Amino acid sequence: MPRIQATRPQLEILAWLAIFLLLFCLSWRFDWHEGLDGFIERHHDYPLDHALLALNISGFLGLVYSVLRIRDLSSEVHRRLQAEKNVDWIACHDTLTELPNRRFLDSICARAMIEQRAQESYAVFSIDLDGFKKVNDLLGHDHGDAVLKTVAQRLSALFPREHVFRLGGDEFVVLSRRTGNPDLAALADRIVSVIGKPFTFNGVAVDLGASVGFALYPENGVDLAQVIRHSDCAMYVAKRQGRNLVKPFVPSMQDELAKRVRLEGDLRAAIRKAEIVPYYQPLVDLRANKIIGFEALARWKTASGEFIPPSEFIPVAEEAGLIVELTDQLLRCACTDALSWPSELVLSFNLSPIQLSDRLLGLRILRILGEVGLPAHRVELEVTESAIIQDAVTARIVLDDLVNAGVRIALDDFGTGYSSLSQLSNYRFDKIKIDRSFVASFETNDKQDKVIKAIIALGAGLGVTITAEGIEEESQLQRLQDLGCDIGQGYLLGRPAPIEKITADQIGTRILQRG
Ligand code: C2E
Ligand code: MG
Ligand code: MG
Repeated sequence: MPRIQATRPQLEILAWLAIFLLLFCLSWRFDWHEGLDGFIERHHDYPLDHALLALNISGFLGLVYSVLRIRDLSSEVHRRLQAEKNVDWIACHDTLTELPNRRFLDSICARAMIEQRAQESYAVFSIDLDGFKKVNDLLGHDHGDAVLKTVAQRLSALFPREHVFRLGGDEFVVLSRRTGNPDLAALADRIVSVIGKPFTFNGVAVDLGASVGFALYPENGVDLAQVIRHSDCAMYVAKRQGRNLVKPFVPSMQDELAKRVRLEGDLRAAIRKAEIVPYYQPLVDLRANKIIGFEALARWKTASGEFIPPSEFIPVAEEAGLIVELTDQLLRCACTDALSWPSELVLSFNLSPIQLSDRLLGLRILRILGEVGLPAHRVELEVTESAIIQDAVTARIVLDDLVNAGVRIALDDFGTGYSSLSQLSNYRFDKIKIDRSFVASFETNDKQDKVIKAIIALGAGLGVTITAEGIEEESQLQRLQDLGCDIGQGYLLGRPAPIEKITADQIGTRILQRG
């Protein structure tokens, strides 16, 4: 539109000049000026010559005004065109990294579809940064921006003749024209290693990784847009499987992703309707033979009556950002239930590793305890080693807040992670829970038996209570009691059950009447 308006004044001027030229030629051809002279002479008593002069002067002034106006209009038109160009650039580029954005990518896809460039082959790489959120949260947005700019520069240097896009957040796409038979997996590996190269900003080292998925046009889709969706899908699968992974697209990934999207939707609805509730499994003092508390274990029973295990939905809740809401809901419910138990019983509650990098976690937990009215000393939080290793500084701050308020901390699943002695000496845990995989095999596996013995001795030396998980057999229980294990948990001693099944009668009973 503005371009059409810009030519109109010029056209008008040209039209006026043409009319003027035509009149001039006609007056020349038919001697109109002689007729005009005669007319003036015949009517010399009227000041027609003055009127004509005035007309000429005003015509001249009009001409000067028009020239100036045309100049103004041209510079206005120029300014508008420039602004239009800037707006176009901003609309199609990311202003931080100066890379083209999703809109640009969409326009390329649309053009490719119209032009039907079927003969050309492309590889699409979808890239998502690993650890970017942590940089932003812990080091601030300045660091985050610097990371994004550096990644953009590194990718542009790796693909100097290809399109590199930033699609928003920490997602990038490379659209690469394929000639010959390039080794795309090797190229994707180079993306990972280029992004993972050490990087410091303001003297702080930034630890970054990348998950990369790639797909091919025309092999993996009918058009470019579909191939980009497929490379995104491969990237999500890579991301879910860990850091710094590369995955080529395979069609079965779509089913996996669709299932995951469905599960996430169902989980969101289940949390909204508070359908996920804690079940309680007894923790038994193996010397006194009595229940000393319960571990809350999340249970999700769907409308069809099927139980979805926590090992399936807790990771989805973590990835979908639902874990805070779910934990708050479960903890509030478990604390309320625990109020109905005798006051010496503790509530043990699991925390996800990801939660320990949230500085506000301690405050949220203490607020819930305060609101429900459950004293902090009746609560024990179970964390895994990986949770502490992932972000040791924040984990320590969060745990210190809780410990200072009187909450106890248990190290869960000991033996399956790093089992690092430095962890044990660096942090003062109140309890260590031996993973059930040791208990399952220690009777037949001499080495496992020695490991359990060593952990129990370590607990005694450090003054830390030891719990054995997964006790299913009488003989396992007997052996653990003989070894001096403090607390036991397992199907033999009691399965996880809903609150209605945790009766005062059951709690009061000494459940180990054996031998
Ligand atoms: P965990 O904290 O180690 O919990 C013990 C798991 O062992 C539970 O599985 C429990 O049902 C199971 N178990 C207990 N005794 C026996 C036994 O004798 N034999 C066998 N085979 N299994 C036994 P569950 O409930 O499926 O939970 C699995 C994991 O999910 C838990 O491991 C915990 O890490 C996580 N989880 C459960 N509830 C929550 C929650 O509310 N929040 C978070 N963040 N994680 C949770
Ligand atoms: Mg646990
Ligand atoms: Mg455990």
